[in-house]
Amino acid sequence: MHSGFATLVGRPNVGKSTLLNRILGQKVSIVSDKAQTTRTQVRGVLTRPDVQVVFVDTPGIHKPRTLLGERLNETAADAATGVDVVVFTVDATAPVGTGDRFVAGLIPKDSICVVNKVDRASPEEVLAQLRRAGELGFAAYHPVSALTGDGVDQLVASIVERMPEGPQLYPDDMVTDVPEAFWVAELVREQLLHVTKDEVPHSVACRVTEWEWSDTGGPRIRCEILVERDSQKGIVIGKGGSVLKAVGTAVRHQLPPGAYLELFVKVDRDWQRRPQALTRLGY
Ligand code: GDP
Ligand code: MG
Repeated sequence: MHSGFATLVGRPNVGKSTLLNRILGQKVSIVSDKAQTTRTQVRGVLTRPDVQVVFVDTPGIHKPRTLLGERLNETAADAATGVDVVVFTVDATAPVGTGDRFVAGLIPKDSICVVNKVDRASPEEVLAQLRRAGELGFAAYHPVSALTGDGVDQLVASIVERMPEGPQLYPDDMVTDVPEAFWVAELVREQLLHVTKDEVPHSVACRVTEWEWSDTGGPRIRCEILVERDSQKGIVIGKGGSVLKAVGTAVRHQLPPGAYLELFVKVDRDWQRRPQALTRLGY
C-alpha cells in the first residue's frame, strides 16, 4: 500500500477546486469565477486498491488587503508544507505572471506544474504557456482541462507514482472530511458568489447555526449569511426576497430529500478585518 498527501496551490481562480472535484468525480469544494472562493483547506480522498491520495485544496495565494486575505494565504502556505507532492496550477488562458511566480517561489522544485483550462486555449497558446511555466524549473508539467477532464488521468497517475509506502489513512468510503454543516454553509456561499458582484462576494460569510433532525425525515437547517454593510444585505435578500429564494432553491437541490433550509441575513460590520470574527467562522 502507498499513501500520502498532495496539496493544490496557485493563484486565485486558476481552477484548483474544479480540478479537485474532477479528480474525485464528486463535488467536495465549491467553485466560482470570483477570487477567494476557497477559504479553508479542503481534503478530498482518492482511494484505489493499492494507493490512497489525500488531496488538499487551498485558498488562492494573492496580495492580501484584509486580515481575511492574510489568513487565507497562511492557510494555503501551511497546507503546502511537509506534504508528499505539491501541485502548482496556472491558467493556460492568462500569461504566467508575477502572482504565479510568487507562489512558485514558495514551493519545492519537485512540485508538479499543471497548466489548466486548455479547453479555452489554442494549442499554440498551451505550448507558449508550457514554455513560460517551464522557466520556473519544476519536475513535471501537465496540460489539463479540469472542466472536460482532458489530461487529468495522466496527472493523477504522476501524483500516484510519487506516493510513498504507507498505510490507508481514511476509510474506503470517505471522500472528504468536510463536516456536513460546514458543507451546507459552503453551498449557500457558492450560490451567493454566483449571483453577486463587486465587493459583495468578499463580504459574504455563511455559517450553519442550527441542525435539527425532524420527524419528516430530513434535517431542519438554519444558515446565517453574514455581510458587512446594510446595502449588501439588501443585495443578498433581493427584491421581495428573490435572491435569497433562488439561492435556497439551488442549494436544496444539492441536499438530501426532505432537508429543510432556512436562510437569514445579518450585518456583521467588517468581519473580514476582525480576528475573533474570522476565528469564529473557521478562517
Ligand atoms: P480556484 O480559485 O483556483 O479554486 O478556481 P475554481 O475552481 O473556483 O475555478 C475558477 C473559475 O475557472 C470557475 O469559473 C471555473 O468554472 C473555471 N474553470 C476551472 N477549471 C476550468 C477549465 O479547465 N476550463 C475552463 N474553461 N474553466 C475552468
Ligand atoms: Mg478554490
